Amino acid sequence: MITRMSTLFLRTLREDPADAEVPSHKLLVRAGYVRRVAPGIYSWLPLGLRVLRNIERIVREEMDAIGAQEIHLPALLPKEPYEQTNRWTEYGPNMFRLKDRKGGDYLLGPTHEELFAQTVKSEYSSYRDFPVILYQIQTKYRDEERPRAGILRGREFVMKDSYSFDLDDGGLGESYRLHRDAYIRLFDRVGLRYVIVAATSGAMGGSASEEFLAESDTGEDTFVRSTDSDFAANVEAVVTPAPEPKSIEGMPAAEVHHTPDTPTIETLVDFLNDAGLGRTFTAADTLKNVLVKTRQPGTQEWELLGVGVPGDREVDMKRLEAALEPAEVALLEEADFAANPFLVKGYVGPKSVQDNGVRYLVDPRIVTGTAWVTGADKADHHVVDLVCGRDFAPDGTVEAADVREGDPSPDGEGTLTAARGVEIGHIFQLGRKYTDAISLDALGQDGKPQRVTMGSYGVGVSRMIAAIAEQSHDELGLCWPREIAPADVYVVIAGKDDSVRDGAERIAAELDEAGVRVILDDRVVSPGVKFADAELVGVPTILVVGKGLANGVVEVKDRATGDRTEVAVDSAAGHLV
Ligand code: ATP
Ligand code: MG
Ligand code: MG
Ligand code: MG
Repeated sequence: MITRMSTLFLRTLREDPADAEVPSHKLLVRAGYVRRVAPGIYSWLPLGLRVLRNIERIVREEMDAIGAQEIHLPALLPKEPYEQTNRWTEYGPNMFRLKDRKGGDYLLGPTHEELFAQTVKSEYSSYRDFPVILYQIQTKYRDEERPRAGILRGREFVMKDSYSFDLDDGGLGESYRLHRDAYIRLFDRVGLRYVIVAATSGAMGGSASEEFLAESDTGEDTFVRSTDSDFAANVEAVVTPAPEPKSIEGMPAAEVHHTPDTPTIETLVDFLNDAGLGRTFTAADTLKNVLVKTRQPGTQEWELLGVGVPGDREVDMKRLEAALEPAEVALLEEADFAANPFLVKGYVGPKSVQDNGVRYLVDPRIVTGTAWVTGADKADHHVVDLVCGRDFAPDGTVEAADVREGDPSPDGEGTLTAARGVEIGHIFQLGRKYTDAISLDALGQDGKPQRVTMGSYGVGVSRMIAAIAEQSHDELGLCWPREIAPADVYVVIAGKDDSVRDGAERIAAELDEAGVRVILDDRVVSPGVKFADAELVGVPTILVVGKGLANGVVEVKDRATGDRTEVAVDSAAGHLV
């Protein structure tokens, strides 16, 4: 069926949306693929939905090819299974929780290990039933502290999650390998540039977990890889624990005030005023004695103190805003440092590396605050945790690693280079954590129960669209690889004459007949508007039917390379099929 621009539910935008910082976000909104409803929550419009469906199709094909079976579990879940594994508590504030009319606790599933394990337990019981791989493509919910970049980090998003169930470690290894190979095929097919990186420390079990990172400067993960060997790791996996922050006993007990997610000067001023700190703040104010605390994503624990700035090291609002902007900061307090035995000296500002015997790998784009806490006797001088890091290492400190760009690699070959990526897939040999929690056993050949071992494997289906758009666009718009594009060809009717219109209609019909997916721009608008939208929407081929038609030719333009060729009208369809 031909898609007609005259009736397509689509309004493209000439301007970038105000809240968009990264290209994929700007372009997916401008080209009318998605629309924001609330932070991290998006609607899919016709073109976006087509791309999503194409990705889902490819994911299904690759999962089915390894013998995985598709099922579909609810997203609205009772608390009990998550209580059994302790994740009702452990998962922290990222879990959306709600109550039913009777007061029962429910959650919106952020990931489904519990339910899959339970489902297998309720259906299977014999060693003959295993191995089995089950998957779903489903909407997931995570109350991300910093939803970001449109669909790149949503609070509602589409994930393919699969789970393998095996009788022994060898079986789990095989299920893991099947997934790894399937993911390679899948990410190759959608045309992504990606790396596979160790996601857990090599010292702690080799390939038990790997991530697929789409290479992109806008990514939130930093990875290092060797110039001469296969070594590649997420810096989170090679992190050195930061030194224990020294005691800050003596600090006055904090009164808790929450800032908005991402403070701006205006919200900061409002916040400070609302906090009842005993004076009125304005955007022009200089702050003294402001204590900043942060907490790491996914926990309830306040991690740290931050910045108190007496004397010449006053922090003005502008600098405070810059420092807070990328942070997980949620607490501010004015404290009387002068009366405190622990004086916080320091500043908030960009800082890359700190000494104190610990080397930090800090992306220079991450604004980082450093503070020194000096004891009453001024001898106890040490670095406390850096504030304001965008990514926190698993131990809750800033992104810090014992490896740096230019270091030799851990496996003795080559030197390390660092880059950033977007996590598009994650494969994980879970082992028996969940099957132990619910006693998922198979009755063995010898009549004895055998504990099942489990793997968990995720693909960010909706995130992939943003990752592809990040890698595949130019200043004019999106450039989709054919297999996931919302159409194959965008036919521009570039002329008012009936003959041009009729010619374009005929070519579109021929293409459609031949199985080519056609968008026909039959709107009554200027050719300029049509050309701009053709580039913005980003289907792989643009076919222009215009003046040349009188001489029997049309123009075919390759969206990605920009190459233009004139082809005879009669062979236009043949040229594209
Ligand atoms: P991240 O490190 O980006 O927060 P994650 O490690 O928490 O991701 P997993 O639990 O491994 O995510 O989930 C599997 C996959 O789901 C991820 O590899 C990613 O592609 C995707 N994903 C996770 N969180 C989001 C999100 N908020 N929005 C879109 N996709 C997501
Ligand atoms: Mg996460
Ligand atoms: Mg991750
Ligand atoms: Mg992950």
